[in-house]
Amino acid sequence: MDLLEYQGKQLFGRHGLAVSDGKAVTTVDDAVAAANEIGYPVVVKAQVLMGGRGKAGGVKLASNEEEAREHATNILGLDIKGHITRTLWIEHASDIATEYYASVLLDRSAKKPLVMFSTEGGVEIETVAEETPEKLIKENVDPLVGLTREQAIGIATKGGADADVIEGVADALVALYEVWIEEDASLAEINPLIVTPDRQVKALDAKVSLDGNAAFRHPDHADLGDKANLDPIEVQAAEQDVVYVKLDGNIGILGNGAGLVMSTLDVVAQHGGSPANFLDAGGGSDAEKVKQAVQIILSNENVKAVLFNIFGGITRCDEVANGLVAAFADLKPTVPFVVRLDGTNDVLGREILEKAALPNVYAEKTMDSAAAKVVELAKESR
Ligand code: GDP
Ligand code: MN
Repeated sequence: MDLLEYQGKQLFGRHGLAVSDGKAVTTVDDAVAAANEIGYPVVVKAQVLMGGRGKAGGVKLASNEEEAREHATNILGLDIKGHITRTLWIEHASDIATEYYASVLLDRSAKKPLVMFSTEGGVEIETVAEETPEKLIKENVDPLVGLTREQAIGIATKGGADADVIEGVADALVALYEVWIEEDASLAEINPLIVTPDRQVKALDAKVSLDGNAAFRHPDHADLGDKANLDPIEVQAAEQDVVYVKLDGNIGILGNGAGLVMSTLDVVAQHGGSPANFLDAGGGSDAEKVKQAVQIILSNENVKAVLFNIFGGITRCDEVANGLVAAFADLKPTVPFVVRLDGTNDVLGREILEKAALPNVYAEKTMDSAAAKVVELAKESR
């Protein structure tokens, strides 16, 4: 789960990282009131899950009430690469002497946390990594030891931080690492990590992604994320414990088990089709779950045909077939379904489907023929 900047900053603050105090608001009047209370100059910042807000006009300095009102009016509702701004963060503007970059993430190949630091902050770090890779310091951390102050000082020194702020940068890195570990983040990034003219080190921006698999350890995280901009279908899927990822094609994919669904996407693509989603109903899918999954798929209006790919292990194909029959009775889909049932009770499952004589349902024996069929059907119905 990705956090909005201000939510990330609040987590930072709890772990001792310096951030500016501020206020999250959703109306122009509240923005102006917050700015008056905080004191000018303030910075008015769009809260969307998208980087490059500054360039897109979503970060503006205001030196008085009039400017605060003007910026809040312009930024609320602003579309930043498809993300509509519904929340503003107002904070006291900082003076900037230098902009650095710092992050902690998981290095999957090393199977260790990775700390990155650069004095080239404020710009896109991908550009630094490409054009001047020597200016981006990367160091793995031993997860059993954690990021010690000594290692952090070494990173800041190697990265070329100004001598008088080496300790301040090291403290920020240690705090950022603590955020990453204790909040179960997969990414904790500060760009820019600034040095003020009076030589304080401070996080001016925050990009934090939390690991959803650890959500149960953090009941206090439940309200975080960009709740106002969630895809309603994804919300419904999450409530029903179904893994659903929206893609931009026109073939609805439903399977049980992430591995099966992923290979189904591949086989459909190989046949020239374009999946509209990734939907994993999970192991042990029963009739009710199948019905919910069908409903989720059909609520995406781009879907022109559905491929149902079930491999029965714990999941019983007869249960799945019953779920499909119930879903058809309830939802009366108008798009064709291709169904491939294999594994536990597959013969019985196909019998159930045959007996129900569902309109527009095609049973296929193999994954390959099912994919070919669904691609053909999706083409026809365009
Ligand atoms: P991003 O564009 O989405 O990465 O948003 P940031 O929060 O990083 O802000 C973009 C840029 O706005 C920063 O790199 C700064 O240069 C500038 N900025 C943000 N906050 C302040 C502030 O308090 N004071 C000043 N002087 N500039 C700021
Ligand atoms: Mn930034």
